[in-house]
Amino acid sequence: MTTQRVAIVTGAARGIGAEVARRLSSDGHAVAVLDLDEAACQSVVDGITASGGRALAVGADVSDEGAVKAAVERVAAELGAPTILVNNAGIIRDNLIFKMTLSDWDSVMAVHLRGAFLMAREVQTYQTKEKWGRIVNLSSTSALGNRGQANYSAAKAGMQGFTKTLALELGRFGVTANAIAPGFIATEMTAATAERMGVTFDDFKTAAAREIPVQRVGEPADIAHAVSFYASEGAGFVSGQVLYVAGGPKD
Ligand code: NAP
Repeated sequence: MTTQRVAIVTGAARGIGAEVARRLSSDGHAVAVLDLDEAACQSVVDGITASGGRALAVGADVSDEGAVKAAVERVAAELGAPTILVNNAGIIRDNLIFKMTLSDWDSVMAVHLRGAFLMAREVQTYQTKEKWGRIVNLSSTSALGNRGQANYSAAKAGMQGFTKTLALELGRFGVTANAIAPGFIATEMTAATAERMGVTFDDFKTAAAREIPVQRVGEPADIAHAVSFYASEGAGFVSGQVLYVAGGPKD
């Protein structure tokens, strides 16, 4: 029997975040669907509500300190103390190093690292008070290095170090922190990469699947399943880990 908790999923208007929000709801939790544009979160919220769950659309830029503070306060007031946090919001600004602008670098760092830091700092106040919490951070196989992604790979490797430190600091309060490092997942993010490379998304996915041991690309549900495990009551002794969800070994 699952205890109902309040979860916040960032970048949840679409893609992996939307599927994670739906999964945490079907696991029995109330879910704040947070993204840049509040209106864009509404269809995910409506879907959850139609299935009998509780959800709230919250508009906030995770890299904005004031917006994060206000968003987490609102979730606490409207849904209850948030004790599950999934730092999923992300962007890519790919380019080879000689063409990468400072703004490409800074914006990627701002959403992934600054965003995860601000969200975790705010939510841990509730988690430590409740003496229970789960933080799940989205890393990537790109953390191991990926051509054209100096900014993104550094941010995603940073997410792993950040996760391990959160695990060390917050464990005594009943809070675990873990990371998931997805491989190729079919979302608008990978569709945008295909478009930039001038290939159709179907061709891009077929070529990617050939290189993956299980011979298919990932779906958002593959990541939601891993989040569900980390967020579960039974995973309280699993902390500071990085789970590669990539259809084969990566690290
Ligand atoms: P996606 O479809 O592009 O969705 C990302 C969501 O994050 C979008 O709704 C986006 O909003 C939102 N977002 C961007 N900046 C934000 C900000 N500052 N504050 C709040 N929300 C913000 O991406 P995805 O493929 O689902 O990826 C989700 C996570 O998994 C990311 O962290 C990504 O790096 C990671 N990941 C993805 C893959 C993959 O293959 N897809 C692989 C490894 C890791 P807007 O639409 O308004 O920009």
